[in-house]
Amino acid sequence: MNQTAREHGPAPKEPSTCSLDEPTLVLNRWWLLVSVTTVADALCKLYTGAANAIHQDDFSIHDFHSWIVRGVDSGRKYVRTPSLWIQIPEVILLTHFEQEPRREVSFSRTQVFRRDHYQCQYCGRNVGRGNITMDHILARSRGGKTTWTNCVSCCTICNARKGSRTPKEAGMSLLKDPGKPVWSPDLLLQRYQAPHESWRKFFAHLPSRPHHS
Ligand SMILES: [Zn+2]
Repeated sequence: MNQTAREHGPAPKEPSTCSLDEPTLVLNRWWLLVSVTTVADALCKLYTGAANAIHQDDFSIHDFHSWIVRGVDSGRKYVRTPSLWIQIPEVILLTHFEQEPRREVSFSRTQVFRRDHYQCQYCGRNVGRGNITMDHILARSRGGKTTWTNCVSCCTICNARKGSRTPKEAGMSLLKDPGKPVWSPDLLLQRYQAPHESWRKFFAHLPSRPHHS
């Protein structure tokens, strides 16, 4: 038995219900949100020293050894190995890789629909996910690009009516000028049905607006 194994904290009282696929928040050295990873990857990063764990209540920072020694908090999920109980880190802090936090929303049809709140940008109708289309304001056949400023959410009726004409030629107008959406931590949260409650404390420290867009 190695030294780490002998120094684990007391055994937790409750059985763990943890899945290694659960999400863990990843911050860089400046405590800026980088991404979300899995518990399995977070534990791997913690073990190899690529990241430290941040305690969700007191914000104390722990390497693998000190995280093990501090034990498992009551009611918290943990992972069991033959000799250790490891509380799952809900937030980790990268130690080496100075990755710039992602502050951009990548272009996709889905992100265009989300930006427009699934509302047809010509008639204003709210369109179901199955019936929404993406319209190129200046049609691709006329050199229109697939970009944030040339693509909008559109219902099938307006799309058929407009065809490859410009809005002006078709006598249609846009509800608003389309642009690139502003990144916010909420966009990341939307992807997770049940993010850890502790994340919100960290989001409170994060800028909700990018430094530059
Ligand atoms: Zn429409």
